[in-house]
Amino acid sequence: TQRTFVLIKPDAVRRGLVGEILHRYEAKGLAIEALELRHVDAELADAHYAEHVERDFYPPLRAFVTSGPSIAMILSGDSAIEVVRLLNGATDARVAAPGTIRGDLALSNRENLVHGSDSPESAEREIALWFPGEVPA
Ligand code: ATP
Repeated sequence: TQRTFVLIKPDAVRRGLVGEILHRYEAKGLAIEALELRHVDAELADAHYAEHVERDFYPPLRAFVTSGPSIAMILSGDSAIEVVRLLNGATDARVAAPGTIRGDLALSNRENLVHGSDSPESAEREIALWFPGEVPA
């Protein structure tokens, strides 16, 4: 089994889509290991998106992720990292495949509802950043 970090972003919380999105992860068979409502501040946004802080799209991305509460969670299951990214769909929600969370529920490249870790290394880094108490000793 594998753990991954998932963020349900502020657009999803504002739009009342938390239940629908959680349902898709649970229905697939992933287990919720930790879950917390978090209002992300600029410091956490910069740490989470460290690889993007110099990019042109980062200032509006930071404004967006700090614009309201998000749901941070750890999900686990067989191949959880890849499974979550398949369920989430392509980053650009405008062209994400129908049947995916982004493809069915969003129409924006920035406000794309969810984030999922993209590798085992990012999953461990993100879990340590968001849930320091959940890191095995
Ligand atoms: P996430 O990391 O949120 O799961 P991702 O791994 O699919 O998404 P990244 O390339 O890491 O995509 O980009 C991180 C986030 O930055 C995206 O989810 C999106 O909100 C935003 N983003 C990425 N590219 C753009 C862009 N060209 N214009 C605006 N926002 C962007």
